[in-house]
Parts: sequence; C-alpha cells; structure tokens
Amino acid sequence: MSGGLPPATAFLVRQGAPLPSIPRFAAQGELVPVDLVGCTGFTAAGDSPERAATSVGAVQVLVAGEFYNTAELSGTAGAAVGDAAHDAEVLAHLYEQYGAHAFRLINGRYAAVVLHGEDLVAATDHVSGVALFVSRVDGVLTLATEAKALFASVVDSSRAQEITELPRVRGPFAVHRLRAGTVTRFAPDGSVTSIDTWRPPEWRQLVEESEAVTLVRETLGHAVRRRIAVRDEVAAVLSGGIDSSTVASLICEADSALTTVTLGTEARDEFAEAALVAGHLAERFPAVSHRELKLSADQVLGELARTVWASESTDPDIVEYLLPLTALYRRLPTGTPSRILTGYGADIPLGGMHRISDGLGKLEDALSRDMATFDGLNEMVPALSMSAGYWTTHPYWDRDVLDLLTRLSASLKLRHGRDKWVLREAMAPSLPQETVARPKLGVHEGSGSSSALQRLLKEYGLGSDQRSAVIEDLYDQTVVAGTHPDDIDLLKTFERLRNKMREDHE
Ligand code: AMP
Ligand code: MG
Repeated sequence: MSGGLPPATAFLVRQGAPLPSIPRFAAQGELVPVDLVGCTGFTAAGDSPERAATSVGAVQVLVAGEFYNTAELSGTAGAAVGDAAHDAEVLAHLYEQYGAHAFRLINGRYAAVVLHGEDLVAATDHVSGVALFVSRVDGVLTLATEAKALFASVVDSSRAQEITELPRVRGPFAVHRLRAGTVTRFAPDGSVTSIDTWRPPEWRQLVEESEAVTLVRETLGHAVRRRIAVRDEVAAVLSGGIDSSTVASLICEADSALTTVTLGTEARDEFAEAALVAGHLAERFPAVSHRELKLSADQVLGELARTVWASESTDPDIVEYLLPLTALYRRLPTGTPSRILTGYGADIPLGGMHRISDGLGKLEDALSRDMATFDGLNEMVPALSMSAGYWTTHPYWDRDVLDLLTRLSASLKLRHGRDKWVLREAMAPSLPQETVARPKLGVHEGSGSSSALQRLLKEYGLGSDQRSAVIEDLYDQTVVAGTHPDDIDLLKTFERLRNKMREDHE
C-alpha cells in the first residue's frame, strides 16, 4: 500500500560529470542514485524514489511530484500510457508520441527532466507546483528541485555561466529558475528555447449563476478526488474559512477518512470556526477526526529560518503566509496521514483579498496582476511540508480548477454584496451557514504570526520595511551558504542587522 507520498519529491541531476557531494534537500527522505544513462544525481523524499527515473526506448525521464489526469491521458494517448505503472513511465510514453508538447497534456504537481538524443528538456507544471532550478558550469547542466542543492553543487563559482534566457535567483553566482507553465530545451550547442504549456486565460466565460455554481462544485470535487485517489485516508489543514472548509467537505463526500488540524496561538486562533465545520461534517461522515494544535506565537516565529530555507522564497509577504504552516507541518500530531490537502491559493483566482467596494474592474486588475506575478514566489513548493515528511497538495491550483476560476466573469466572484460568491454558493448546501458567510482571515492573521514578527522587528529598532532585509539575510545563510536552519540563531540575525543599520546611519 502506498504511504501517500509521490515516488519522489526532490531530485538533483547532472549531465555526465560527477557531483562533488551528495545533495542535501529540505525535503526529508531516503536518497537514491538516479539510474539514467549519462547522468549522475539523486532522487529523494518520497515513497519509492527509484521509480522516479525510468526509460522507454530512447527517452529517459526523471519526475518529482505527481500527475492528476493519468486516467484522461490514457484515454487520449493509448494503451502504453494506460498500462504505465507510474507517472515517470506515463511521461516517457507521452514524450515518445508528442515530444516536448507532452507537457501540454499533463495536469499535475511536478518537475521533470527528459533526456532524448542530444537534448535535455526540463519542465515544471502550470504553476511551478514543484519548482525547478538549473545551473551551467563549463557547459555542464545541473538541475534540481531546490536551489540550495545547486548552490552546494558548484565547486568553482567563477565558472558558473549565465543562462540569459532564464530568470536568475538571488545568489552570488548564476542559478536560474525554470518558468511555470513552460518547457525548456537545452541543446548541446548551448542554445535554450522554450514553449508555453499553460497560460492564465485572459478571456471571460459568461455563464448563468446556476451553471457556474455547478461547474465550480464539480470541477473542485474532481480535483479533490484525484488528489486522494492513491489513499483512503488524508488530512486537511483547516482554518474554518470557506476555502479549506470546502476542501474538507469534498474529501468527506469522496468517502475518504479525514483528519483535520487547526493551528492557533495565544495571540489568536480560529479554533471555534474550525470546530464548527469539523463537527458539522462529523454528523454526516463519521470518519472525521479533528485536532487543535496550540503553539505560542514565539514558537511560530521561531520557524522563520526554516520557512525561508524550505520555501527558498525571498518575498516577505509569502514568507509570512508560509510561516504558520511551516510551524504546523512540523508539529502535526503523530498518526496524521502523510497526504495533506489545503485550501491554499483560492483567493487569487477568486479575488478573495479584494474589497467589495472597489468594484469589478479593480477585481480584474488584481486578478491579472496576481496571475502574472506568482511565478518565482515559491508559495506551493513541496519542501515546506516535506521538510516534516508530509506531502501537501492544493486543489484550488489544480490546472482545471485554476483555469475555470480564472475565466469566470468577475461578476460571479463579486455578487449580491459577497466576495467569492460562486464558491460560497456552491458550498451552501454542505457547510454551516456561518462558515459560508465567514469573511476572509489570512493564515498569518489567524495565527498571530504577522504581529509577532512586527513585535520582534520593533524590539530590535527595525522598521517593517526591514522585513525583506531579515528574510534575504536568512536566505543567504540557509539557501546560498547551506547552513541548516536549526543552526541559525534568529535573534543574532536581528542583532546583526540592527548593528549594520546603525553603522549605515553613522
Ligand atoms: P488563508 O491565508 O487563510 O487563505 O490560508 C491558506 C490555507 O492555509 C487555508 O485554506 C488552510 O488550508 C490553511 N490554514 C489557514 N489558517 C489555518 C489555521 N489556523 N490552521 C490550519 N490551517 C490553516
Ligand atoms: Mg483563512
């Protein structure tokens, strides 16, 4: 029986040349050498990392993560795909038929590398649900799902070469990021070309209220079902808001046993709101068990270095959102299923952070901006939960769900004086009225982690505009220099930044 994780959730692979050392990932798990001709590397942190690499004919592939539409793919691409034992084999067969366009067919949360003839082809899913990075040193490519593994794999940084076609991540020498929704081909002559595999839709679909409500419920239900297909028992991180309560309810409707977990601190919690939902579900579905986890706001803040190390994000808002989740994943009660569904990301395509009074045009502005700028924020990287041994997956950013929610007209999102109207309406029959009507509370607000960080900044005489400096410093220590977050003294970091600021002022 599968343990609930994909075969692998991390890899590093290098063409030809040997690696200076065994890679270290934030994603925790057994390391297995990559079995591909002409490469060295490792896969890690999954249920069966040796199955992440495979070859079919002249096509060799390596996959971290998982696909969600293998049933549909086998209908389209034939018996070989239908008979494939795992996702890497599915991709290899698809690639044989479609070449790099294979990635246009797949709905998943993955990063992949394909070796075919002289070419190396690399891709991440439509939203970079598993991030992928590349470095080129003396013409040799190394690719990894975590940038820290690449920083550690370059012995002589003066030989690292820029790849001008790709965005660079923060760091003293060139490490690049593969774009979301893009497949990139690296030819032996050094040329780098890309094709798009997904773009956020710009057009808006005009459908009746009732049709939109049905579409949202069915599409989300499908996304949830395919995320639990490999497992009869999953967990959901539940705030008691409409987004995560919807996911919890759809898990129950799919006949899966569900463990819900809610985080709170002394500063703030959403225990009552989450318990209301869990209790409501338990009346209809007895296989629901609910847990509350209470931490101090300082314990949550103590995960700052770990959050930056795992997410490799330097965006202060994103790090603040991810901070309480890092704390939660790390302290989940024993016995929590290793596959966790979240309500993360619903607000982007539904415009949930938007003020009702601003109107439809402004909602579309915000939506276009958010859909154009998420890439590189690393919001959904698996290392965040895999550093604690859990695989998370996010139904709102399923390709079909994101596609649908993005293209629904803004008037279905902001309607009858409600934000996220279409989702609330879709779930009204399944959730308590109070939950359906509940206004948004961000995870960083509901756990008091934002205010704890503000307090610490103030204590050290740093303004809230210094959040970035703190986070970049932690990134440089953990991702670039490779210091493990357990060996970082957070208060010393604040102290050093305070002293530096004072010197700069003198
Ligand atoms: P939010 O910023 O509220 O949209 O949070 C994003 C996701 O994180 C939610 O959909 C939940 O899955 C999870 N989450 C937020 N707050 C909590 C909490 N207090 N306890 C557990 N999970 C939470
Ligand atoms: Mg919330």
